[in-house]
Amino acid sequence: MDKDGTLIRDVPYNADPGKIELLAGVADGLRKLGSLGYSFFVVTNQAGVAKGYFKEEALAGVENRLQQLLHDSGVTLSGFYYCPHHPEGTVQAYIRPCHCRKPQPGLLVEAAEACGINLGDSWMVGDILDDVEAGNRAGCKTVLIDGLGHERRKGLSGYRSPSYIADSFSEAADLIIKNTGYGKI
Ligand SMILES: [Mg+2]
Ligand SMILES: [Zn+2]
Repeated sequence: MDKDGTLIRDVPYNADPGKIELLAGVADGLRKLGSLGYSFFVVTNQAGVAKGYFKEEALAGVENRLQQLLHDSGVTLSGFYYCPHHPEGTVQAYIRPCHCRKPQPGLLVEAAEACGINLGDSWMVGDILDDVEAGNRAGCKTVLIDGLGHERRKGLSGYRSPSYIADSFSEAADLIIKNTGYGKI
C-alpha cells in the first residue's frame, strides 16, 4: 500500500509524527483484510530526504507512529519500505535514479523477497497512477483510490491501468475481498 493519501491524510513532505492521521475507513478495511489472511506493507516515495526537507532518520518516527495507530486499531503492519532518492534532489547521497522510486516496482519486490510474499496473490493500493504502475510492474493486482476522479482523467493504459478503481479505502477493501480466491491465501 501507498501511505500518503491512501492510509493517512496527505500532508506534503511531512515527517512530523504528530501530523499523521489515518483516513476514514482504513482501520476497518485493514481489519477485514487481515481476517482473510493478508499481510500489510507500506511502500512509499520519500523524496523529501533527497530534497533536504528532512533527514532519512526522521522516517523512523513516521513508521513508528503509523505502526502505533494501526496497532491501536487492531492491525499489524508487516513492513515499511521507502525510497529516499530523487534524481533532482539537493542532498548528494540521495541524488540518483533508482529502482525503488515508484512507478518502479523495487520496493514491492524487496518486500516480497524479504518476507516470502507471492506478488501474484498480492494487491497494490494507492491514490495515484505511479502506485498503480509500480503494482502492475511487480505483478500485483491493483486498486486506484480516486475519490475525486483526478487520476483517471490522466488516461489509463498499459501499466497505468488499475484492476479496479475505488472512491475510498473502504471500497478498495471491499473490492479486494470480493476478488480474493478463498483458500488461496
Ligand atoms: Mg499517495
Ligand atoms: Zn529509490
